[in-house]
Amino acid sequence: MTPLEALIRSEIETQGPMRMDRYMDLCLTHPEHGYYTTGTPFGAAGDFITAPEIHQMFGELVGVWLIHMWQEIGQPDDFELIELGPGRGTLMADVMRVAQAVPAFHSAAKINLLETSSQLRKLQKASLQNFDVTWVDQISDLSDRPTLLIANEFFDALPVRQFQKIGDVWLERLVKLKNGDLSVGLGKTTETVFPVPASDGAIFERSTAREVVLAQIADEIASNDGAALIFDYGDVGGLGDTLQAVADHSPVPILERSGEVDLTSHVDFAALGRQIGDCAGHLTTQGQFLKSIGIDARADALGQGKSASEQEETARAVQRLTGETAMGTLFKAMALTRNGRPTPPGF
Ligand code: SAH
Repeated sequence: MTPLEALIRSEIETQGPMRMDRYMDLCLTHPEHGYYTTGTPFGAAGDFITAPEIHQMFGELVGVWLIHMWQEIGQPDDFELIELGPGRGTLMADVMRVAQAVPAFHSAAKINLLETSSQLRKLQKASLQNFDVTWVDQISDLSDRPTLLIANEFFDALPVRQFQKIGDVWLERLVKLKNGDLSVGLGKTTETVFPVPASDGAIFERSTAREVVLAQIADEIASNDGAALIFDYGDVGGLGDTLQAVADHSPVPILERSGEVDLTSHVDFAALGRQIGDCAGHLTTQGQFLKSIGIDARADALGQGKSASEQEETARAVQRLTGETAMGTLFKAMALTRNGRPTPPGF
């Protein structure tokens, strides 16, 4: 039994069955035993590999997008550049490398990172050692300068609740103790809003944590100007159990090895889209976005003068990032801009 599982069991024994969002939050961000707190989960040797870790092109294209949006909002000579959940800091490092080509952007950017894990903060510090970086605990800590925000695979790590329809009644899926083991059961719920229609047995997921963050981003952009670019895997509405645990690139049961394995669920972009407030929202697939802002041209440029095997490696990365059966379709790109601005590139 992991140390975290012992804590979870005792919480269930004293307080009763545990909501899924509480379970997920403890597993990922418990200050001592959480997955992100203790581990360095990314990269080929880690449990999973994310887009910026696949190839530098991803971060470079995000950088080009950010520079475009900075021009669009009038090239402010002081602005907040923030990344949510930066992992190893690779994406921001790639963005800033590209930004060297536009010195006015480079010097105007005040870099902020929102990160819970002190372990990962250390890695981020190392990746961005040439920069003045501020770690913030929430978006509202930013000044009232314009804000350009990026997030890759951040929302999927924020906790969700799960509900299941049994006959005509929606119940909440809860972590209980059954014959001494952790097990998923059903219980009464305080939630009152459910999708219609839904058939008997349907599972519905809702993450108020994700909705709250999206609303904060929208508020920031509406008030101070700026733009946001968010990537995550997920769907637009829909039902079903998408909570999954992954260790060493393979799925494992969600209640096993609590705190030692990654736990995520599909992001519902329809639910996020309802939180954009006074902003304009844009949504497409990651594949479409990257193709449309020029990943093929970037791959060609990087391949110039390189060996055939290096060129093949770049082509494989393009395929992984944009291919329909790879990350191209399941992953979505969402942008937020101030209302009235032109549709951003890539959408
Ligand atoms: N963006 C990175 C890492 C994605 S993993 C990449 O693409 O490689 C999720 C990241 O979000 C990690 O850095 C994790 O520590 C951070 N994170 C998870 N939950 C968080 C929370 N509640 N608040 C702040 N950061 C969180």
